[in-house]
Amino acid sequence: MPSRLKRCMKCKQYTIAEDKCNFCGASLEKIAPPRFSLEDKYQQFRIPYFKEKMKNKFNILD
Ligand SMILES: [Zn+2]
Repeated sequence: MPSRLKRCMKCKQYTIAEDKCNFCGASLEKIAPPRFSLEDKYQQFRIPYFKEKMKNKFNILD
């Protein structure tokens, strides 16, 4: 799991980008590691999103 999980302040997308949103370029807010009790409603988005995200990241950076 990424330890630097952040969320866009504008479009609310979760991202592991360093400083700005991949989608809209807005600032990111750092959020706590996912808590399933609080974030269940996002889980359906987060899991497929990060699967793809990590895949892309590894393909590019590794
Ligand atoms: Zn955004």
